Amino acid sequence: MQKSTQNKLIVIFTLLGAIAIGLIGYIYIRNISNISDVQQIINITKIYLLTALVILVIATFISIKIINKVVNKSKMDVATLEMSEHLKDLDKQKKQIETILQCMTDGIIAFDLEGYVTHKNLAAKRLLNLSDEDNDFDSVFSKLDVDINLEKIIYLEDWTSSDRKVNINDKYINLLFVPYKDNNQRPAGVISIVQDITEHVKLDNMRKEFVADVSHELKTPITSIMGYADTLLEGDYDDATKTKFLNVIASEARRMAKLVTDLLSLSRFDTNRSKVEKTEFDLGELVKKCQEKLQIEIDKKHHKVENLVTANVPLVYADKSGIERVVLNILSNSIKYTKENGTIKIYVGFVYNDAYIKIIDNGMGIPEEDLSRIFERFYRVDKARSRELGGTGLGLSIAKEILNQNGGTIDIKSEVGKGTEVVIRVPTKK
Ligand code: ADP
Repeated sequence: MQKSTQNKLIVIFTLLGAIAIGLIGYIYIRNISNISDVQQIINITKIYLLTALVILVIATFISIKIINKVVNKSKMDVATLEMSEHLKDLDKQKKQIETILQCMTDGIIAFDLEGYVTHKNLAAKRLLNLSDEDNDFDSVFSKLDVDINLEKIIYLEDWTSSDRKVNINDKYINLLFVPYKDNNQRPAGVISIVQDITEHVKLDNMRKEFVADVSHELKTPITSIMGYADTLLEGDYDDATKTKFLNVIASEARRMAKLVTDLLSLSRFDTNRSKVEKTEFDLGELVKKCQEKLQIEIDKKHHKVENLVTANVPLVYADKSGIERVVLNILSNSIKYTKENGTIKIYVGFVYNDAYIKIIDNGMGIPEEDLSRIFERFYRVDKARSRELGGTGLGLSIAKEILNQNGGTIDIKSEVGKGTEVVIRVPTKK
């Protein structure tokens, strides 16, 4: 209780005491004023003094009691207030932790020493397909093909965490088990962290596949170059044979050079180091130029190429050399993957804000199941045929990257035996 309140109570009780004594004194004086007997006055005085003393003692006692009560009560009030503030803080912290746990993408399950679940968040239920009945260590982990034991984690793993990888319905899950102790440093239970590492595993596999593909793609021409070079060194061949062998060596070396150039381009896209210099240019003219560059190949296969440019196609605004690379790749694919005497139609037109080039061939086409993967690096419908025709399997993935950089798109429609239609869109400057 505050000092001022205490002082106020003391003043009130002193006043009450003074009033009581004054009242007794007043009654006393009134009583003795009519009495003449001295002895009687002395007796009455004694009685009054005694009464005043008794009242004083009782008043002091009562006032002390009341003050104590009030002091205790106010002390209790303060303690209760502090306690409830503390409880509120604890509740707030608990709710914060619960919300964090529920919002986490990693799953968390806490087990006590007996293996009972004391807490599990939504992510854990979702990742491990847990029901509300799965409330102990065995029922949570026995369904999974994982060799794990609660006692072993708590008592044998020497307070280090242990982890296991499991496969659940196409998902790769990493389970991390961390034992925890109570305030007296005695084992109290185990926390299990459930992480979805599917994307990580997929990326890792893709990286491994990519390294394997690159090695394989480079090994094939190297083996061939080494084979022909050794043969030439060992034997004495006529000029015609030598020229034949040297031609093979030259074409294999060119293939390796193309592969390395393509890989470097992709690496530049991946690290955002490729330069895009956008200019305004005419798509129809670019297509004509690409056709001229590939005329030798077109003639070799006796293809008929029709080139139709719709009137009034506005200038496009993009990286000219990049778009040229895309068109050369798509057109050379049509030439490569169409049997002799094929027909290739090229349309240049304009829709909304984009100019487009449509290249349609009547070649071998692409099976439906391969269409969705055609833009993946090194993906080829027929590896042997593509390699034979000088392909690296990187052309379409590079085309897609270039169009992405330029705000354009590429779409492929195809039917096996009938042909393929590739449409690229390039933005025009407004
Ligand atoms: P490649 O260097 O093998 O031609 P691309 O990335 O350019 O690599 O093409 C990937 C694959 O798509 C090719 O190997 C081929 O199987 C298929 N493909 C692309 N264009 C055509 C087309 N016009 N007709 C048939 N198949 C095609």
